[in-house]
Amino acid sequence: MRKYIVGNWKMNGTSADLSEITAIAAMAEGYPSVDSAICLPATLINRAATSLPDFLIGGQDCHAAASGAHTGCVSAAMLVDAGAKVTIVGHSERRAAQHETDVDISGKAETAHAAGLNVIVCVGETLQERDVGQALDIVLGQLQHSLPDECNAEWLSIAYEPVWAIGTGRIPEENDVAEMHAAIREQLVARFGEAGNKFHILYGGSMNGDNAEALLAIPNVDGGLIGGASLSAAKFEPILAAAANSGE
Ligand code: PEP
Repeated sequence: MRKYIVGNWKMNGTSADLSEITAIAAMAEGYPSVDSAICLPATLINRAATSLPDFLIGGQDCHAAASGAHTGCVSAAMLVDAGAKVTIVGHSERRAAQHETDVDISGKAETAHAAGLNVIVCVGETLQERDVGQALDIVLGQLQHSLPDECNAEWLSIAYEPVWAIGTGRIPEENDVAEMHAAIREQLVARFGEAGNKFHILYGGSMNGDNAEALLAIPNVDGGLIGGASLSAAKFEPILAAAANSGE
């Protein structure tokens, strides 16, 4: 499976950063064996997508409704109209701050797909949940309820992101990542049959140039969702290089 490396710029970036996005796209051209994308703030998507038609630009969320009275929200069709090809849904920062439920996230994924977007659905446990031995149950429960019944690897990927690893510089033990990704794969195969083997399962949480090679070598780690280390071409490049060298 080709590795899929996705940057999440979160609430960072203004016009002044368009040149860095251009630098990232140019850098990514040097790694043609890797699929890469950057998920931008909604305000930058159109300008980035227009000036970089060959680079995959994404959004970070969309509303579950196709349109309507949802002040301040962005619809999937608006993302498409702006030039996005993919969107994240269910990031833990939104699950926590916007109280998004698994059912909300499944609805967002369906609406995004109907609008023509590819989708990355995020799941992940908190530190407290891991400490009391509930990590597998929590993540598998989120996965069960956040994925639409009708989905496939053509348009949907999963990102396993332990909440406590996001933006903290901490990453799980390699065997914990392996265990979680294997469990996610097992559930996908149990639910979707052989097609479950085709979904990309990304790891996210403090992935950087120093740890990417080891993380991307773990079985069933098919790529990464990267926050802080995607904000510059210089920090993002070693992750793409590690993905290219991972030999899959
Ligand atoms: C993220 O927010 O999806 C993420 C993985 O962030 P960071 O890489 O900064 O931990």
